[in-house]
Amino acid sequence: MKRNGKIHHCGDAKESDKMAKKPVPLCGEHHQLKEWRPTTFEYTEQGVAVRVPNVYAWVCPVDGEASFTPDTVDELLATVRELLAAAQRAKGRRSVFTEYWVSVG
Ligand SMILES: [Zn+2]
Repeated sequence: MKRNGKIHHCGDAKESDKMAKKPVPLCGEHHQLKEWRPTTFEYTEQGVAVRVPNVYAWVCPVDGEASFTPDTVDELLATVRELLAAAQRAKGRRSVFTEYWVSVG
């Protein structure tokens, strides 16, 4: 990776650069080149749904189906596991709050 001494606070630019040289995958179903762009990661377990917006992935331009890279999935699952645990505890005490929105940075 090229470094020019500047510190980038824009995660989007960094993520785009990282994938710029990788071969673009083809959607097997629609025979279209996928696009590297932000999408929403969704995960449901035992009636609790976790949604993480603005996650970069290869997205099919036809149906919007996203393919997340293994690195991204590892990072997401670590986060999702913690959120699911918190949500299950809230469910256990029958909390009236059924939806949360968490933002970091
Ligand atoms: Zn497709």
